Amino acid sequence: MFHNVDAPAMRRINKATVLQFIRDHRTTSRIDIAQVTGLNKATVSYIVDELITEQWVQEIGYGSSSGGRKPILLRFNASGAYAIGMDVQVNSIKTMVCNTRNEPVYRSQRSLSGEQRGALQEHLMTAIVEETRAAVAATPSSPHGLVGIGLALPGLVDVQTGSVHYLPGLPVRDWPIRDQLAQAVGIPVFCENDANCGAWGELTRSASHSDHLAFVNAGTGIGVGLIIAGQLYRGRQGLAGEFGHTTIMPLGQACPCGNYGCWEEYASERSLRRYIIEAGGDPSVLNEEQGFVDQMLSEAQADNRAYIRAFNTLGQYLGIGIANITNALNPDRISLGGTLSQAATFILPEIERIMNYRTLTQNRNIPVSIASANSVAIGAAALVIAQTLFDTRPTIP
Ligand SMILES: [Zn+2]
Repeated sequence: MFHNVDAPAMRRINKATVLQFIRDHRTTSRIDIAQVTGLNKATVSYIVDELITEQWVQEIGYGSSSGGRKPILLRFNASGAYAIGMDVQVNSIKTMVCNTRNEPVYRSQRSLSGEQRGALQEHLMTAIVEETRAAVAATPSSPHGLVGIGLALPGLVDVQTGSVHYLPGLPVRDWPIRDQLAQAVGIPVFCENDANCGAWGELTRSASHSDHLAFVNAGTGIGVGLIIAGQLYRGRQGLAGEFGHTTIMPLGQACPCGNYGCWEEYASERSLRRYIIEAGGDPSVLNEEQGFVDQMLSEAQADNRAYIRAFNTLGQYLGIGIANITNALNPDRISLGGTLSQAATFILPEIERIMNYRTLTQNRNIPVSIASANSVAIGAAALVIAQTLFDTRPTIP
């Protein structure tokens, strides 16, 4: 007998278990829930009745009987609440509103102009607040409303304090962005590193479930989000996954982090720029509105050899880092996201070639696939939903 069980906590956990079970099955019944979860029938009935009153669950008729009374079928109300997920990058903001099954019901993309990009955090904050207000206005009404905003940020994020210690390209130090946004819009805000959101977004894509995966976010820099045993791995201070700053060349290129020869100096947008120059191309961006990778890709697609060579070199260096991650973690799969993943045609064959001789034999069949372009924003919303509604702790402690 456990005398020190916290009864309200136990009730909360049981309720979250039942709710998650109903969410994860298209239809189910009280008897199925009791059988699979091991909770007794009376507890399940009590919780289900409560969930029906709260409009999380609907009764949708009778199922077939296996001898006794026909069971009443239950269905999860995916429109019971919503969360906003926002993928904030240096030059763009992508916003999504997702229901509690992590399905998007609204999306918006906004480019930040050159003036805003080079400028200060107030411009970024203004854009984030405006995008949030537009998303709030577009959210369908629901019994439980908007449960929160997940902000995916491309830098060093302190999840506990909601502060950003570093954002690439912006002179930001210890910016309390979570509290500032929450104060401006009156909705709870959660901050997370963008690669972590991408990993969680890829994990929740139903068709491709994995318990162990790495999401490689390759763009202006490289961040990696890690799912280990079905949970997000943040490390001691939330800094896990900074593979971009692991050394691949002891006397290599200087990195803004202070070290030399970091992986992201060989497999990011700035290294692509260098490879294009080395191959005899001219990577100066012609159109401010169009992304850098888009424009370089158009040249490669037009069969410009210098650009094709540059993308191939980039793919080889991406392959080296991805092989290192694969040998370290032995994941089910690797997802490649970020702006550079648009160049899949030119870089994926090189990544696979490198993987083939730089990973251990047993790791050679681990697939590298291109992530959904929306994984970061969807993952940001899905993390909010997991933490607020399902009482799940998504991270490894
Ligand atoms: Zn570095």
